[in-house]
Amino acid sequence: MKASPEAQRRLLDLQAVDTALAQLAHRRKSLPELAEIDTVARELSALEDERVRAQVAVDDLDRDISRFEKDIEQVRQRKDRDQKRLDAGGALREIEGLQHELATLNRRQSELEDSELELMEQRESAESTLNEVRGRLAAAQERRAEAERRRDEALADIAKEHEFKTSSRGPLAADLPADLVALYDKIRLDSGLGAALFRSGRCGGCRIELYGADLARVKAAAADDVVRCEECRRIMVRTAESGL
Ligand SMILES: [Zn+2]
Repeated sequence: MKASPEAQRRLLDLQAVDTALAQLAHRRKSLPELAEIDTVARELSALEDERVRAQVAVDDLDRDISRFEKDIEQVRQRKDRDQKRLDAGGALREIEGLQHELATLNRRQSELEDSELELMEQRESAESTLNEVRGRLAAAQERRAEAERRRDEALADIAKEHEFKTSSRGPLAADLPADLVALYDKIRLDSGLGAALFRSGRCGGCRIELYGADLARVKAAAADDVVRCEECRRIMVRTAESGL
């Protein structure tokens, strides 16, 4: 293939733009914020499980406490009934029976109230556990929102830079011979690099150093020959910097 030395030199400018575009694409995929958001998401899911467990513990205790309240209320009503019948008077045997029952009900009420108190203490500690988990959950949500904000900022910067590079690529490529750009693109799609400067006897793509007949072949090539590396197939662009 033939292409003017000037066109070949400008291929390096095109390559610089393409390399920058590839770097932007890489940056977009490997933003540290993405890993950070992943980590926080896993943390949030574990914390959400923890929050549900803590909530269930509080709900269970609430249910037990209200059962005790109902039992205590029943005992109270029965005591009221007995007391009214006692106040109304009656046969001695009946009065003794009621007094005995009242004493039993009082003991029962004390037992129920003690048990309820114990549950209320447990509930207090379960609720403080729940609040503590909620606090950690809120902090993690805040960290996620913050990381997402930083990710969006970085993505917006990358998009702006990408647009800038893309808009400069168009005219650059349009100005070059179509067959040269087609060859360059074909090689570039394999490895990201289609053309590289030949300097100090080395291919700028794979860095292999050329000697003897191989170097002589590059030196002997006409200025408008498109010379390719035999090792990596890339276009070796020769300029005044090449030292040939
Ligand atoms: Zn090479």
